[in-house]
Amino acid sequence: MGLNDSSPGAMRNGRGLSDQWAESVVVRPRTTERSITVHKRLVLAFALSILTLIIVTAVAVVLSVRFEECGGGGRGREGPTGESGPRGGGGSRLNGSRGERTGDEEAGQPWKKSRLPGSARPRHYDLELVVHMDNFTFSGEVSIELECVNATRVIVLHADRLEVDRVSVTAEGGTAGRAFSRPGGGAMRIQRHFPYPTNQMYVVVLHRELKPMRLYRLNVSFDAAIEDELLGFFRSSYNLQGERRFLAVTQFSPIHARKAFPCFDEPLFKATFSLSLRHDPRFTSLSNMPLAGRSPPGEDGWPAHRFARTPRMSTYYLAWAVCNFTYRETQTDGGVTIRLYARPDAVSSGAGDYALHITKRLLGFYQDYFKVQYSLPKLDLLAVPKHPYAAMENWGLSVFVEQKILLDPEVASSTYQMELTMVVVHEICHQWFGDLVTPVWWEDVWLKEGFAHFFEYVGTDFLFPKWNMEKQRFLTDVLHEVMLLDGLSSSHPISQEVERATDIDRVFDWIAYKKGAALIRMLANVMGKSLFQKGLNDYLLSHMYGNAARDDLWNKLSQAMRSEGRGIDIGGMMDGWTLQMGYPVVTISRSQSEQLPTDYITVSQEHFLYGQEVSNSSSSRWQVPLTVAVGNRSSLGSESLIWVNNRTETHRIGRMDDNTWLLGNINQTGYFRVNYDLHNWKLLIQQLHTDHRVISVGNRAGLIDDAFNLARAGYLPQGVPLQLIGYLPQEAWFLPWHAASRALYQLDKLLDRTDEYRLFSDYVLKQVTSRYHQMGWPANAPEGNVLQASYQSEELQRELIMLACSFGNKQCHRQAVTYISDWISSNKNRIPPNVRGVVYCTGVSLMDEDVWEFIWMKFHSSNAVSEKKLLLEALTCSDDVFLLNRLLNLSLTSDLVPEQDVIDVIIHVGQNPRGRNLAWKYFREKWDVLNARYGEALFMNSKLIGGVTEFLTTETELAELKEFVQSSGLGAGPALSRALEIVEGNVRWHRLHRRQFFQWLRKPSNQ
Ligand SMILES: [Zn+2]
Repeated sequence: MGLNDSSPGAMRNGRGLSDQWAESVVVRPRTTERSITVHKRLVLAFALSILTLIIVTAVAVVLSVRFEECGGGGRGREGPTGESGPRGGGGSRLNGSRGERTGDEEAGQPWKKSRLPGSARPRHYDLELVVHMDNFTFSGEVSIELECVNATRVIVLHADRLEVDRVSVTAEGGTAGRAFSRPGGGAMRIQRHFPYPTNQMYVVVLHRELKPMRLYRLNVSFDAAIEDELLGFFRSSYNLQGERRFLAVTQFSPIHARKAFPCFDEPLFKATFSLSLRHDPRFTSLSNMPLAGRSPPGEDGWPAHRFARTPRMSTYYLAWAVCNFTYRETQTDGGVTIRLYARPDAVSSGAGDYALHITKRLLGFYQDYFKVQYSLPKLDLLAVPKHPYAAMENWGLSVFVEQKILLDPEVASSTYQMELTMVVVHEICHQWFGDLVTPVWWEDVWLKEGFAHFFEYVGTDFLFPKWNMEKQRFLTDVLHEVMLLDGLSSSHPISQEVERATDIDRVFDWIAYKKGAALIRMLANVMGKSLFQKGLNDYLLSHMYGNAARDDLWNKLSQAMRSEGRGIDIGGMMDGWTLQMGYPVVTISRSQSEQLPTDYITVSQEHFLYGQEVSNSSSSRWQVPLTVAVGNRSSLGSESLIWVNNRTETHRIGRMDDNTWLLGNINQTGYFRVNYDLHNWKLLIQQLHTDHRVISVGNRAGLIDDAFNLARAGYLPQGVPLQLIGYLPQEAWFLPWHAASRALYQLDKLLDRTDEYRLFSDYVLKQVTSRYHQMGWPANAPEGNVLQASYQSEELQRELIMLACSFGNKQCHRQAVTYISDWISSNKNRIPPNVRGVVYCTGVSLMDEDVWEFIWMKFHSSNAVSEKKLLLEALTCSDDVFLLNRLLNLSLTSDLVPEQDVIDVIIHVGQNPRGRNLAWKYFREKWDVLNARYGEALFMNSKLIGGVTEFLTTETELAELKEFVQSSGLGAGPALSRALEIVEGNVRWHRLHRRQFFQWLRKPSNQ
C-alpha cells in the first residue's frame, strides 16, 4: 500500500503462530500416488484409533476427576458427538497461548476475543454479487468452503455493516485430505446466528460440532450499501463532458473486506476466490483475475460476469471495480497482459501511457531480481479519482489515485514524475512482497511495506540508472526523514503489537515504511547484493501463496550467508533493530589513552534522542555494523567493517597522524548517526572546504544531516553545522544541497518568528547565491519534456531557486513576478514545469489579490492533476490572512477542493509563516469535523497534527497544545504525543541553544 506524502511493542506470539500455521497452509499437489498412500494410512489409522480408544477410555475412567479439572478438549481429541454436551468443543484456537480455555465453548464466547478463533478456516469462497449503481446498494451471497481444524460448535468470522439475511451450514461429506463425497453430508442445524459489532464479527452457533479435518460449507446472503467513503466497496465520481459519472471500487486493506462480504478477514486465512458480478451491462467490471465467462442475462436483463478462480490469497487483496473506464494495454514477453484503466478522456490523451510502459519493464525487472515469475495472467492498473491512499497493490488489480499514475509529459515536473514512478515501482514490488508472500500479522507489516519502499529506489534505478536513487536520494528522502521521527522518545519499535481492529491502521506509518526500508538497505549492504538476492529468492519460493513472519526471512538470509561460509546470526542482529525503538548515535574518537598507540579508536554507542536527557537512561543497545575509513587531504582509505556490540569498545584502525581524519558509516548505508570528537569534526570541515570530492556525495549529505541533528539535540555546539555548510558554494551535486535545505527549512520553522531571523536568512543566502546565479533558471520554452530532462541538474536548479526565493533573494522574486505577469497578460503559461510550484507560490505571496483570484480560477479550469495540486498549494502562500481564511473555509465546507486535498491545504497554510497562527487556530476549532472525516484513515490525521504543530516554539503555544491534547481526548492516537514531544523540543532548543546559535552567526568572521 502506498501512503500519500508523509505520516509500538514486543513480539506477540509471532513465532509460534507463524510456524504452526505455516506447516498447515503449505499447498501440496494431490497426486494419485499420494491418494493411495493416504488410503493405506487411513486403514492403519483406523485400526490404531480403535486400540487408542480402548486405552483412552480406560485411562479416562481412572483420571476422570482430573479430566474434569482440566476442562478437556484439544486438538487430537474428538469432542462428544451429537448434541453438544457441557464440555463440547474445547480448544478452538490457532495458537496455544491465545485465550483461556473454557469448558463450554459457547460460554467461552470466542467472538469476544479480538482475533478469530481459527477452529474453522476457509479454503475457498464463491462470492456472487449484484451491484446496483443506480441506488448504490449491492446484495450478495457467499459460499465458503471451510475446513474444521478443531472440533467446534461455533463458527466466528468477520462482517461489518452488512445486513445478513440467511445463513446455512452443510457438511460436505469429505475430509480435508480427500475431496470425495460420502454419505453423512447435509444441512446442519443452526442454534442461533448473530452479529457481534464490537469486534466486527458474525457468529454462527450450531447444534452439533464440526469435526476436525472435515469439510463444511457456510452460506450467507446479505445486503449492503456502496458507501460514499473510501473504505470497503465504495463509490466516487468524475465528470465526463459535463456529465457526472459514478464508479464503485474496493479498498479492503487492512480490515475492510468484511464491509463487503462475510469473511475470515485476517491475513493468515488465505483462500481461493471465485467472484461473480452482476450489474447493469452499461458498466464494465474488473477483478483480480481475468473474466472467465458471462452467464446469460437473468430476469433483470443483466448477465453475471464470472472471474477466474484466484490463487490462495488474503482477503484484503481481493478487489473488484464497476466503472465506465476505457483502457490501453500492452503485453510482456512472458504473455502477461497489462492494462491501464482510467477516465476515457485521460486514456485518450495518453496520460496513462507512461505508467503502462514502466509497469511492463518493471514486471521483467522483478522477475529477474526475485527469480520468481509474476503469478497471474494479467495485471490491471486502475486510476481512480478518489482513494484513501496513493495506491493499493491488489493482486492483478492495483488501484491508484489519479495523481500517482496519470502523467501529462507536457506539464508535469520532474518531481511529479519521480513520485509517480516510485509509487508504481512500489505497488509492482508488492505483487511479490505482499500478494504472493504475506506477513503473518499486522505487527510485521513492515515486512511488505519496508521492502516495497526499499525497492522503490532499486526499481527506479533500473528504469533510470542516472537518477542514482538507492545510493543518493534514499538518504535524504528515507534515512534522514525517518531518523527525525525515530529520534523521539514517543517513537515505537518497527514490529509493534496490534490486537484490536481499530489499532491496525496505526501500523501503516513512516516507521514501518521508511525505517523498514532503511533497515533492509543496511542488511543488504552488510550481506552483499548477490547473497541478499539469493536469500530473498529462497524466502519467496519457500513461502509463496502463504504467509511469513520476520524470523522466516532472517532464517533464509542467514542460510544464504552460511552457504558462503559467513556465519552471521541475522535474526539475532536484526531483533535489536526491529524490537527496540530508535537508533544509536555512534561516537568515534581517537584513543585518549596513553597506553594505546594512536592508530586505535574508541567507539561508543548510545540511544540517540532529541531530548538528550532521556537518552542517558535508555538501556537500548544495538549490533552496529560500522564502516570506518581514514582520510587525508587527497584521498580516503579503504573502509573496514567493525561490529559494535557494546556500549564502548576499542578498535585498531589504519595509520593515523595529526592531519588524518576518520569517517564513519561509509556512504550512509547504516541506520544510525555518527558523531566524532571536535578535533575530527574540525578536520572534516576543513576537508570539505579544501576538497570536498574526497568525501563521497552520500557522505557529504550524511555529514550535513548528522551535524544539524546532533546540534539540535545538544550533542554538538551549534556552530558546527553552520560552519560545515560554509563549503556549499563549491558543491555541484544535488544531494548535499538537498540534505542542507531540509535541515535549513527545519531551522527556519524554529526561527522565522524571532527578532534575529535576518541573521539566519542572510547566512543561508550567502551560501546559496553564487550557485543560484550560476545555475540560473530553466530555459523559457522547455525543450522536449520532463521524461528526457537531466534529473540531477534540473533538481539542483529547482532546489536553489526554492532556497533563493524562500530566503528572500530579490532577483529570484523579480523573476517569479515576471513569469506570473506574463502569464496573466498573455494568458499563456510559459513557466517551465519544473519551477512552476515555486513561481506560483512566490507570485501569490508577493503580488496582490488579483493574482490569487487568477490562480484560484486556473485551479478550477485545469485538467492536469499535477498542475491542479501546484495551483492549490500556491493559494496557501498568500500573505493575506483574510484570503487564507477564505481558502480554509472553502476547502472544508464546499466540494471545490477534493476531500483528500483538504488536509494538505491546512498544512500548507501552516507552512506559511503568515498562516501559522491561523492554521493552528483553525485546526483546533474544526478538530471535531476533521476527526470525524479523516479519523479512520489515521495517517491523515497524524500528518495533519504534525503539520500544524511542528512550528510551535513558545511556552504559550506549548500550553495551548497541552490544553488541546487534554480536551480532545485520545482520538488522534500517537500523533498527539509525538506533536507534544516535538514542540517541547522546540521550546527546549530556544531555552538552551538559541543564544549560542545566534552568537556564532553574529561573529564578524561568519557573516
Ligand atoms: Zn505498500
